[in-house]
Parts: sequence; C-alpha cells; structure tokens
Amino acid sequence: MKPVDIKSLVNYVSLKILGGGDYLLNALEEYLVKGEGPAIVAHKYNISKHQLRGYAQRIIEKSGSEIRAKKVIPILQYLAEGIEPIVERNDNGVYTCKLCNTVVAREDTEEHVRKYHKDQLSLAIKKMMERLEEYKAKREKALVVTAS
Ligand SMILES: [Zn+2]
Repeated sequence: MKPVDIKSLVNYVSLKILGGGDYLLNALEEYLVKGEGPAIVAHKYNISKHQLRGYAQRIIEKSGSEIRAKKVIPILQYLAEGIEPIVERNDNGVYTCKLCNTVVAREDTEEHVRKYHKDQLSLAIKKMMERLEEYKAKREKALVVTAS
C-alpha cells in the first residue's frame, strides 16, 4: 500500500478552505467517517452529491485507502483549525474575495486564490504542516505516557 500523502492532502485541503470550501472536512467527516447518506450531507452543505463523492474520492486517493481516509479526516480537521476562507459565500450564493473585494465566480474561487493570493496559500499550508508537527509530538508524548 502506498503511504499517506500528507503534503498533498494539506495542499488540497488548504486551497479548498481558502477558496470558500471550509465545509469540506465537516462534510467528509459526516459522509465518510460517520456514514451519513450522501444526499443528506450534500443538502446540508449546499453542494451536489456528485461533488461530495468527488471530494471523498480525492481524499481516499491521497490517503491510500478508505480506511486510512477515515483516520486522516479528523487529523486534517485538527490541522485546519484556524484556517479561514479568503473567498466567502454570502446568503445569495455570491462569492466575494475578502482580500481584494472582488466578486468571484463559484467555479473560479480556487483559481483566484492560487493566482492572486499565493502567499496566503503558502502561509496556510505552512501553518497546517506546523500543526502536524505539534500533533505528532503530542501523540508521541501520549504513547510514552501509556507505555510507562
Ligand atoms: Zn482576491
């Protein structure tokens, strides 16, 4: 089995969040980890079932298997704490970039972040990778405590 591609997962998740998809991990937790029906979850987060399955597929591929994806999602939620979207969706479904105050088409939000806010994206990735180190350190400490 190929290893979990954590860097690729972090890249994927941070771009999604900055582009306004900050519901991504919660939706995946409900769908993949808790086993909620795709229709219910998709409706709750105002996305299509097709999109939801697509997101799940990407995470499963990058995790190496579905079982691993289920373990990885809560870790990614931990890593993504404090990462805020740059592009936000209002009640009318209009996406606006908070940084440059521009209306962005729904399908272009990630492209907008990548093109105009590369620094913010790099920063979000860096933060998540730092939290990963914290997470690992905590887990090692927990293991030592259990063992002694
Ligand atoms: Zn912008």
